[in-house]
Amino acid sequence: MKFNTKTIHGGQEHDPAYGSVMPPIYQTSTYAQSTPGGHKGYEYSRTHNPTRNALEKSFASIENGNYGLAFGSGLAAIDAVIKLLQPGDEVVSTNDLYGGTYRLFTKIYEDFGIKFHFIGMENANKIEEYITPDTKLIWVETPTNPMMNVIDVKAVSKIAQKNNVLLAVDNTFATPYLQQPLDLGADIVMHSATKYLGGHSDVVMGALVVRDKDLADKLYFIQNASGAVCGPQDSFLVLRGIKTLHIRMQRHCENGRAVAEYLASHPKIEKVYWPGFESHPNHEVAKSQMNDFGGMVSFTTKGNNYDEAIKIVENLKIFTLAESLGGVESLAGHPASMTHASIPKEEREKTGVVDSLIRLSVGIEDEEDLIEDLKQAIG
Ligand SMILES: *Cc1c(COP(=O)(O)O)cnc(C)c1O
Repeated sequence: MKFNTKTIHGGQEHDPAYGSVMPPIYQTSTYAQSTPGGHKGYEYSRTHNPTRNALEKSFASIENGNYGLAFGSGLAAIDAVIKLLQPGDEVVSTNDLYGGTYRLFTKIYEDFGIKFHFIGMENANKIEEYITPDTKLIWVETPTNPMMNVIDVKAVSKIAQKNNVLLAVDNTFATPYLQQPLDLGADIVMHSATKYLGGHSDVVMGALVVRDKDLADKLYFIQNASGAVCGPQDSFLVLRGIKTLHIRMQRHCENGRAVAEYLASHPKIEKVYWPGFESHPNHEVAKSQMNDFGGMVSFTTKGNNYDEAIKIVENLKIFTLAESLGGVESLAGHPASMTHASIPKEEREKTGVVDSLIRLSVGIEDEEDLIEDLKQAIG
């Protein structure tokens, strides 16, 4: 089955009870047993729920994995991965990281004795300098948030395999429509399904997909033991969202390109971060591991003025000023004061998150309206 078909049919079967084409929302916490242990595969909804299982199979299918797991949020999914580790273990992570991931690593797990190294991975060979006998995990985000750096997943996976270290890729920005990290050698794919997979800004959810059975068993154990699962209603909504992932992504990419090119031509704009430009430092890697360049575009204004950036995001009318990304509607964010406010100014500026940086999640509206909106807001 090819990708577009998988988004609709992958891992799915019609409901055995009445043949309903979409799985029913099994809004139940528990399941009747005829005798202790005599059940139909479901005992309690933290452990299993038929609607969630249908979604987990879809996750596995679209990421070319064997096992999918759904969580109550993207961070809950990341939390489950870190729970594979022990005190004393080390993690090498990208430095330009979703702010909440950075906060989870540094404010919670460092206190549990796990050591994190945050490094630029645009040159994958640099990772090896940070690998010690205690390194158990490499954590990669690509394209990165919000600087759109692109990391060569295949090159990182070679280093991970050579050193017997797990490689996890946060695939939230790209989605499997654009890149499939398991095919590039990753062990774990993670999503904030809140974003493109759900696609309609109406659910918070996380996902993991793996191929290896032992790894899947460990993660299922953590999912059930820690309990950060999502409910059946949300599972239904994300399953529905995934069915249009391919056509939404196609439009996100077209509009993303149009917006990036418009901004690059604007006299008040200093720099536009979008991996589709030939001038992007990792454009060749992006071209080889991604099918297109996505709908996320960041830019800075000349003079790097904080107040001017705030004014631009306030002036936007079709782009909504909001955290999050990946929905059908266009959103704009100011990382320094919003998503990345939890990262110290000195740290964030090292990775390029300067005061005038604005991040756009380009939606699937008409391209002309989006460009007109940017034109009036930037002036
Ligand atoms: C939003 C996001 C997360 C966190 O996911 P939640 O669903 O908000 O918990 C992690 N990584 C990336 C890249 C994100 O955009």
